[in-house]
Amino acid sequence: AEMFGQLTGGLEAAWSKLKGEEVLTKENIVEPMRDIRRALLEADVSLPVVRRFVQAVSDQAVGTGLIRGVKPDQQLVKIVHDELVKLMGGEVSELVFAKSKPTVILLAGLQGVGKTTVSAKLALYLKKLGKSCMLIAGDVYRPAAIDQLVILGNQVGVPVYAAGMAIKPAEIARQGLQEARQKNVDVVIMDTAGRLQIDKAMMDELKEVKRVLNPTEVLLVVDAMTGQEAAALVTTFNVEIGITGAILTKLDGDSRGGAALSVKEVSGKPIKLVGRGERMEDLEPFYPDRMAGRILG
Ligand code: GDP
Repeated sequence: AEMFGQLTGGLEAAWSKLKGEEVLTKENIVEPMRDIRRALLEADVSLPVVRRFVQAVSDQAVGTGLIRGVKPDQQLVKIVHDELVKLMGGEVSELVFAKSKPTVILLAGLQGVGKTTVSAKLALYLKKLGKSCMLIAGDVYRPAAIDQLVILGNQVGVPVYAAGMAIKPAEIARQGLQEARQKNVDVVIMDTAGRLQIDKAMMDELKEVKRVLNPTEVLLVVDAMTGQEAAALVTTFNVEIGITGAILTKLDGDSRGGAALSVKEVSGKPIKLVGRGERMEDLEPFYPDRMAGRILG
């Protein structure tokens, strides 16, 4: 399925209602605005976000007046495009590197969202930027997760620090960081345990690991398929442990778009990277303007 296909189609209904009009007016945008509102809600964007968005678009639409040579439907497309870009944070939000080595990136997230996969993908991504990396296997509750990270690390040619499951994640973090310093690597990425849902033990463990690592980036990995729930999770993790951004996975699936559109506005934290496939190469920066372009078809 085409990514965001339903959203794209829903928005097209809005433009189509302006065919034959000469100018945007308060009256003739009523129906198109209703379509935009419906399309966003069906894409699982949260209601307050939809309300603000629709208001901003209507205000601009009626204030635009006649632009020579630009048809009203194209004017509305442009306004919606620019508001979508703004909604998603405007500019691309780059990864931050520490002034002195190593830069530490802590990854958190619920089980099954693609955290372990992202750890290795991110290492490969940074390797391609010329950075030496090391992975730390901190998912001590799922034996397969450690094996999986070692296999993926091998695949992308990045060393993995694993210390089994008998010691606490904070201790693994301490040892791994020490090893990274000895090896003089540029970036350390720590994978942590996910649970099916948020609980206190998980948050306490993350706080402890964060204290030990003093990371430059704390990135929450969220699944695009969970829609506005992803934005709520980013908010919760930010309040609980303090994060610097999110990585949105599974954008290649038939996600409806709600997560990509809501995370920044709801949580105040940017989406920094997106995963769009199971291959190690399928990780890229999140470009709000390109995403808006894709949504508009
Ligand atoms: P974790 O429990 O969060 O560590 O999740 P895993 O990294 O084990 O990933 C769970 C599943 O999602 C695996 O089958 C991955 O191959 C798959 N996966 C991860 N990221 C993506 C993605 O961007 N797209 C797709 N289609 N699948 C993904």
